[in-house]
Amino acid sequence: MGWIDTHAHLADTHLVVQLEEVLVRARSANLEGVLCVAVDEETSLQCVELTSRSEMLRASVGIHPNYGQLASAHAWQAVEKLAEHPRVVALGESGLDKYWDDCPFELQLEFFRKHWALSRATDLPVIIHMRECEAEMLDALQQEFANGTLRGVMHSFAGSLDTALRCLEFGLYISFAGMLTYKKSSELREVAKQIPLERLLVETDCPYLSPEPHRSKRPNEPAWVVHTARVLADVKSIPVSELMKHTRQNTLDLFSRWNSTEPASVRLP
Ligand SMILES: [Zn+2]
Repeated sequence: MGWIDTHAHLADTHLVVQLEEVLVRARSANLEGVLCVAVDEETSLQCVELTSRSEMLRASVGIHPNYGQLASAHAWQAVEKLAEHPRVVALGESGLDKYWDDCPFELQLEFFRKHWALSRATDLPVIIHMRECEAEMLDALQQEFANGTLRGVMHSFAGSLDTALRCLEFGLYISFAGMLTYKKSSELREVAKQIPLERLLVETDCPYLSPEPHRSKRPNEPAWVVHTARVLADVKSIPVSELMKHTRQNTLDLFSRWNSTEPASVRLP
């Protein structure tokens, strides 16, 4: 039994060039799994390919809200096809972002809805990115919730307690990354305290957002998820081993294809 980093951009150039070492360090830090998260058509394919290089790895496929404007006309079809691969356990990352204005908001919404439609069709959960758009996000999720409970996770959560509570009502999990460890993040730690153990996940979001005590070091990597986990266990006033047991089980419950025994035989496009 070990930690699972539920959000790692291992296809990123800084990490993929040292993948073997990154995974050795992850195992030494008692990680049993890493979810490789895609941001566009190309990284969706790369993440799926990476899963053949280690038993620890699983993939997500999807289009990040800041990459929608770059997507080709058939990008979404490629994502749908890749989602059939047995090592794909999630869709995304998808979501909404008003901090960067690379992608028109309407187009972000369009891609977000596509991820939810595919989630309902495949039962794969959605990894949700939210930056500076809590009201718009809650509106969009409310609309999707009309079709039933949502399977997904608010990744690298940095929103308000009210937003977190609404997300829990929609059925979503809440995942915390390195930001939780920063000295200034006392408000975020207060939010984390209120999230039931049954809905918590941990992640690195590497290569970004290195946790303390490595904050100034780049790239962040899966092994460092233990630092965020230690702070989260502290906030919840439980032993680290207890947090591991819960976050591991939550990960396997949400990303339910994780331990499917289906052979990885789907041919890549
Ligand atoms: Zn990410």
